[in-house]
Amino acid sequence: MAVTDAKGVVIIGANLAGGRAAEALRTAGYEGAITLIGDETELPYERPPLSKEVLTEPDTLPAQFYILDSADYAENNIDLRLGVRAERLDTVGQKVELSDGSEVAFEQVILATGARVRRLNIEGSDLKGIHYLRTLEDARALSEELKPGARIGFIGMGVIGAEVAASARKRGCEVITIEPLEIPMARALGPRFGAWLAQVHREEGVDVRLGCGVSSILGEQGRVNGVILNDGEQVDLDALVVGIGVIPNLELAEAAGLEIDNGIVVNEFAQTSNPAIYAVGDVANSPLYFGGRGRCETYQNAQDQAIFAARAIAGQAEPYLKPQWFWTDQFDINIQVLGDVISDAEVVIRGDENSRQFSAFFVQDNLIRGLLTVNQAKDMGAGRRLLERSIPVDTVALADVNIDLRQLLKKTA
Ligand code: FAD
Ligand code: NDP
Repeated sequence: MAVTDAKGVVIIGANLAGGRAAEALRTAGYEGAITLIGDETELPYERPPLSKEVLTEPDTLPAQFYILDSADYAENNIDLRLGVRAERLDTVGQKVELSDGSEVAFEQVILATGARVRRLNIEGSDLKGIHYLRTLEDARALSEELKPGARIGFIGMGVIGAEVAASARKRGCEVITIEPLEIPMARALGPRFGAWLAQVHREEGVDVRLGCGVSSILGEQGRVNGVILNDGEQVDLDALVVGIGVIPNLELAEAAGLEIDNGIVVNEFAQTSNPAIYAVGDVANSPLYFGGRGRCETYQNAQDQAIFAARAIAGQAEPYLKPQWFWTDQFDINIQVLGDVISDAEVVIRGDENSRQFSAFFVQDNLIRGLLTVNQAKDMGAGRRLLERSIPVDTVALADVNIDLRQLLKKTA
């Protein structure tokens, strides 16, 4: 494809959102220059396998790990600059200053700077054997620790803690998770299904400690060898994994004077307070499907918002407003979550909640607000259509596994 305009789109951040934005610009027919800048040295890749296959099958990378093949960048005339940081966004001079001293002119910018891990700040936090997980490099270093019989401790049982604990059990490790809240994955699953997940982990041999903190980290010869819990108990460990959330990478946007509120504030077209600058993925604070605003730290959001922003730049603007969706794989379980599952809605169970295969519908005023499936992805398609089309549902029919969900769509269609 011929690139006719030297002053084109500069995308900052070369992971899922950045990679997809570059691809989608060309798919939408954008013919200007595209520069994709990333401070990691890997080609843009998928993070979901880092806590799953990369740890459980460490000898190979999963198929389709990279978002595009290296040849695709050249073929699509995407100037990919890896291992280099964008240091300053000059909105007046319309250029981005890079850490290698070069500058790139822009007409539009897409900020896809994502998030970085929140770090522990207690004594002993800098000992060797303490791991965080965000990058391929992190995953490879962590994988080295997962030897059969190794005692692996976790601080935080959010998504990282829960997924990596499951992967560590698969590798034959002894696992203890330490979470200050009374339920794991509270933010993602809510209390009822967070408690359900804790039970699954216990059945799989994880020592799940809830409502429990770490008061200090112990080490010997510069390496972690245990922790002291709040109640004084000492736990001996070979390695420690910390998963206590992320911090959005806002520095460039802040310095450029963009509106910030726990994320870069964007409208439904992913445009920031400066209309030439877009923000997408984990870093963006966007309008939410059920009202209000927030940052979505999910794969689907990073991918789809990036595509919508790219289309808007290519002159095909459409509002981006989708219910949140994410999945997690732990042990033999695939959980998918759509919409709002932590509202105070009525929960309608389809299947047996005490098994590892069921769906839970979150219903308010006869409308589905959220859906959680456990090894029951087939309910997601019809469930999504019921939710997105605001089709009133009969909760008795919803719970009846003998009634095909697609019939509920037809009844009111
Ligand atoms: P990021 O992935 O954070 O990428 C931003 C990139 O920008 C990074 O490479 C960063 O280094 C770079 N950058 C930042 N500042 C600069 C700068 N100034 N100059 C140059 N480069 C810069 N979601 C799901 O829905 N399901 C899953 O199963 C799932 N599993 C996951 C497993 C793991 C281990 C992790 C970490 C995340 C997982 N996610 C999952 C979440 C999903 O991967 C993220 O929401 C998604 O990666 C966000 O993409 P992003 O491009 O917005 O941000
Ligand atoms: P989460 O926000 O899911 O969980 C962090 C957990 O740590 C929360 O329970 C949090 O409690 C707790 N916590 C916060 N601060 C402390 C502290 N100082 N000490 C102990 N515990 C603390 O983040 P993760 O780190 O698990 O995940 C990081 C990112 O990776 C997220 O963006 C996530 O979406 C993504 N990811 C997604 C996956 C998926 O969707 N399947 C899989 C793996 C990662 P509180 O809520 O009270 O702050």
